[in-house]
Amino acid sequence: MTIYLDHAATTPLHPRVCEAMQPYLKEHYGNPSSIHSLGRAARSAVEGARDVIAAFLGARPNQLVFTSGGTEADNLAIIGAAFANRQRGRHLITSQAEHHAVLNSCEFLEQNGFEVTYLPVDETGMVRLADLEQALRPDTILVSIMWANNEVGTIQPIEAIGRLLRDRRILFHTDAVQAFGLLPIDVSRLPVDLLSASAHKINGPKGVGLLYVAAGVKLSPILFGGAQERNRRAGTENVAGIVGMAEAVKLAHAEMEQRRNHYAKLRQAMIETWRAAEIPFVVNGHPDQHLPHILNVSFPGTDTETMLFNLDLAGIAAASGSACSSGSLEVSHVLRAMCLDESRSGSAIRFSFGLGNTLDEVRQAAEKTAEIAKQLAGQTSR
Ligand code: PLP
Repeated sequence: MTIYLDHAATTPLHPRVCEAMQPYLKEHYGNPSSIHSLGRAARSAVEGARDVIAAFLGARPNQLVFTSGGTEADNLAIIGAAFANRQRGRHLITSQAEHHAVLNSCEFLEQNGFEVTYLPVDETGMVRLADLEQALRPDTILVSIMWANNEVGTIQPIEAIGRLLRDRRILFHTDAVQAFGLLPIDVSRLPVDLLSASAHKINGPKGVGLLYVAAGVKLSPILFGGAQERNRRAGTENVAGIVGMAEAVKLAHAEMEQRRNHYAKLRQAMIETWRAAEIPFVVNGHPDQHLPHILNVSFPGTDTETMLFNLDLAGIAAASGSACSSGSLEVSHVLRAMCLDESRSGSAIRFSFGLGNTLDEVRQAAEKTAEIAKQLAGQTSR
């Protein structure tokens, strides 16, 4: 049996989510744009789900745009806002530690007449407010800083960033894919204009997410076709996926604190097991401003690739950082941005916890990890 410790990459579908989705894959298969009863049933399911998720985020239902996931939400936020606001300026700011959905959207804009400043992060993965303030220009139209990092879990000072930008009429987008469902998010109180979320990180289905768009924020579509999502996202809605996302949100809402506490305990148990095993290790990321379910750790004297291979052989699923960069030897761009020394960045492993992980299995995984790390470090020092 695999001990799955890669929930920041994706999570299994919750049985209740699967159950909620079933009718919309089978009998209620109508297109929400159709006017017959099957269509109306689908429309009402989509709108019901929108109401649930909007209430969870403190948003109004018409401020949510359903997308095919976090990637599309990031693309729509950045490219859509840049194109719609280009008369006001062509400068954007983001950080070097963002997900590639943000970084590559910015790169596309650079190829299309925009300028982007990539802020550095400190050794804990945190953006410095002073750097942001210094990078602001009269032609800055959008800043995109993630709520929490997917590789090291560092939580950014979202509220302070938003406040800094609000006075200057600069749009603020945050990629909240990893924070969504785990940290309380209330957009009615936050100076955030655009916020991305995804369902599959919180035991919802893959291929569905959303972008929150504050009132009055201009956005150009990036997909062209029908008038769905109030002309902001063309394409027949993923009805079952949207229903599944709402169910996942309901569960996350009911269990948020309990989940956070559980993950924090698992995280601590891993760390304590390694301490007891007396193996050298160092935790990457911020010491207290971090997501409860992500533990990024380096084992000096080992290398990421060999560790992951051996962990996999031992039935432990972990990651090197972002899922897209695992399988390649290259050090992750996040760890590079954090300027960690080579032995630390070259031996980093991400463990991420989720529903169903038990204290026992996590301790077992930590013991096995310690054994492997000892063995590998012994080999390299010989
Ligand atoms: N942003 C962050 C921070 C993520 O962790 C991910 C998923 O790995 C994404 C965006 C992309 O989301 P999706 O897989 O739903 O496209």
